[in-house]
Amino acid sequence: MAMAYDVDLFVIGGGSGGVRAARIAAGHGARVMLAEEYRLGGTCVIRGCVPKKLMVYASRFADEFEDAAGFGWTLGEARFDWSVLKANRDAEIARLERIYRSLLDSSKVEVADERARIVDAHTVELASGRRVSAGHILIAVGASPTMEPRIPGGDLGMTSNEVFELENQPERILVIGGGYIAVEFAGIFAGLGTKTTLLHRGDKLLRGFDEDLRDALGDAYAKRGIDLALGLTLSRIDRDGGRLAATLSDGRVETFDRVLVATGRRPLTAGLGLETVGIATDGIGAIPVDAYSQTAVPSIYAVGDVTNRANLTPVAIREGHAFADTVFGGKRHCVDHGLIPTAVFSTPEIGTVGMGEEAARAKHGDDVVIFKAGFRPMKATISGRDERTLMKIVVQGSTDRVLGVHVVGHDAGEIIQMAGIALTMGATKADFDRTIAVHPTASEELVTMRTPHVVKAPVGVG
Ligand SMILES: Cc1cc2nc3c(=O)[nH]c(=O)nc-3n(C[C@H](O)[C@H](O)[C@H](O)COP(=O)(O)OP(=O)(O)OC[C@H]3O[C@@H](n4cnc5c(N)ncnc54)[C@H](O)[C@@H]3O)c2cc1C
Repeated sequence: MAMAYDVDLFVIGGGSGGVRAARIAAGHGARVMLAEEYRLGGTCVIRGCVPKKLMVYASRFADEFEDAAGFGWTLGEARFDWSVLKANRDAEIARLERIYRSLLDSSKVEVADERARIVDAHTVELASGRRVSAGHILIAVGASPTMEPRIPGGDLGMTSNEVFELENQPERILVIGGGYIAVEFAGIFAGLGTKTTLLHRGDKLLRGFDEDLRDALGDAYAKRGIDLALGLTLSRIDRDGGRLAATLSDGRVETFDRVLVATGRRPLTAGLGLETVGIATDGIGAIPVDAYSQTAVPSIYAVGDVTNRANLTPVAIREGHAFADTVFGGKRHCVDHGLIPTAVFSTPEIGTVGMGEEAARAKHGDDVVIFKAGFRPMKATISGRDERTLMKIVVQGSTDRVLGVHVVGHDAGEIIQMAGIALTMGATKADFDRTIAVHPTASEELVTMRTPHVVKAPVGVG
């Protein structure tokens, strides 16, 4: 029987969402082709989560060396060599990239190492001019960093893409942005010994996170010597010899080796041919989809950052998997975006799942009970490090249901993954309370908080 299309599925983009969708669809028996214009693995593997986390590890050794003294260790002079870290990190990324390719090969997915664009609802054209017809097309092109707002000399800055290419460690860096990427890179550079300024137009970092987390992170960063320039914007960047002079909105001019702009990302939909099939994008270029990731054109789906739903790797992977199961596996299901555990790899680390206190109060009014513990971690008692851990549980009073768990401190990302299971199962505060503590740990606080935090009314009220 003649097959109507060259392939059953054409995936544009070999990142987190595209690779998962391609492999699962192929596993369901679909004939799949995937185009990747840069490197297999996509943002997460090549210039996102993975290389970043390796740099986070690197940045935390300085603390360990210092803390060791209180525990009896005497160490020689510690020196950091950027080029060693870069070489080892790049080698690891190249290894992962090869694994992605071999996974696609062994799944019988044909890979085209070139750019693709959509020609019609069932046709894709590769940069080489080859046209491939497909029963379905999956758009998984991700997003890329923006250099906004545009300012004079803005091009002298770099984005998170270029930061991974730096051959030398900057002595001084200006990081612009208040989101998790800016916060993480500020922490990385400061930990590695670069004098770091973090500039953000808002009055606190990490908009959208629980306010206590935001405050705790701001305090911790200030204590760690990061210069927080909050409530300010960058007016211009000028060359100053081999360095860069940054003029801030308060008129201050400071000199840096590098300026990292981490103010936002935009879906990579320009030039993809969407207009030819009648898919309209939103204000930032994201593709609107329904719960099953289907676009306005029935044969075309989109997953991951290009849809701007929750721009995280595990979400892109789940969306890609659900798409493949639904369309090729006879298992119709979609991703619940309601409860997404996530970490910010700042130092100290943040782990969060569910609603922050403010979001809970906006939804449930007075029917919200807060449990909070702020304490000095055990290790800090002997190391002498001036640091605090924060644990917070947000509960709906009438149902006892835990709405959110928020942690700032060591291993917060690891802790929150487990709390995420409990919340996904619909845990109540009573479930937390009847869980036996693991002692001595920091996370035992999550099962031993008995007394609700009372919000003190301002003087003269109530
Ligand atoms: C610095 C940084 C740190 C991050 N840290 C984390 C983290 O700690 N945890 C987390 O969960 N998430 C993190 N993320 C987010 C995560 O990387 C993304 O959410 C995830 O990669 C999205 O996957 P995707 O499949 O949608 O797109 P991507 O992984 O971006 O893949 C898209 C791919 O499509 C390719 N492409 C684009 N256009 C075309 C075309 N026309 N033809 C062919 N190929 C094309 C691109 O080259 C790219 O490889 C981070 C992101 C950044 C930038």
